[in-house]
Amino acid sequence: MPGVQCTALFAGRRTAYVQSAEEDTIGGDLKRAASIIRERRETVAFTGAGISVESGIPPFRGPDGLWTKHDPSFIELGHFLDDPAGSWIFIRELFFDAIERAEPNAGHIAVAELERAGFVRSVITQNIDGLHQMAGSEKVLEFHGTTRTLHCLDCHAAYARENVDLSKMPPTCPSCGGVLKPDFVFFSEQIPEDVSRDSFAEAGAAGVVLVVGSTGEVMPAAYVPVVAKEAGAMVVEINTSVSAYTRDVTDIFLQGKAGDVLPELVREVLGTVCENCSGVSRGAA
Ligand SMILES: [Zn+2]
Repeated sequence: MPGVQCTALFAGRRTAYVQSAEEDTIGGDLKRAASIIRERRETVAFTGAGISVESGIPPFRGPDGLWTKHDPSFIELGHFLDDPAGSWIFIRELFFDAIERAEPNAGHIAVAELERAGFVRSVITQNIDGLHQMAGSEKVLEFHGTTRTLHCLDCHAAYARENVDLSKMPPTCPSCGGVLKPDFVFFSEQIPEDVSRDSFAEAGAAGVVLVVGSTGEVMPAAYVPVVAKEAGAMVVEINTSVSAYTRDVTDIFLQGKAGDVLPELVREVLGTVCENCSGVSRGAA
């Protein structure tokens, strides 16, 4: 009966690929993800706290998240403006000190490798730690801003982190004495318009979205993979556990740590065997 067949086909659509018993493994999924990235090329990596946890940076949410131990109001804009010194003591300890101890991990390095080889067109990150750039990624859209720069609330002068003295609280502007605010997005602040616009434009142009370490719960960033999917992208997800994307948005779910799965994925994408001479060739044109 045609009706029965249609229902069955529709139910099977989410899987997108006919799987053999042998392929129905992480290894098979990894190979399929790699071949989609090779074929489609225009991959956008969308990363969240999960990738930086592996570098020792605590996430905000979840059982071990910062917000289980600290009241997040210290990065609420009004609170910060009322008591910059009080807020800054937490900001320095929880963000700047933690980030300064951190190094990019194998996951960040793998994403940068895919960009260098011409497969990743951009990274959209919800993280404020600058670890993608440290790993070598060049086109990085920081959806929630960054700790790498600060600006003066009075004269609006901009400063690189390394030129700011954080030994006295709050740090002040060398030219006017105003309070410095880090350039990450505080609660009750808007996402910078240019970053938001560019991120959703990248999502719309993506052939593949590689979701890494994001639970898909923080709006509006969480829409990035959804917008990409609606524009025709395949969604490959790497997370340690299922997320808000896994069931209805993700096409291929690679369960595991970014630092384990991404290097394997890069090996699959970049190490291709030439059909003519059997030599290993690099995938990038
Ligand atoms: Zn100033």
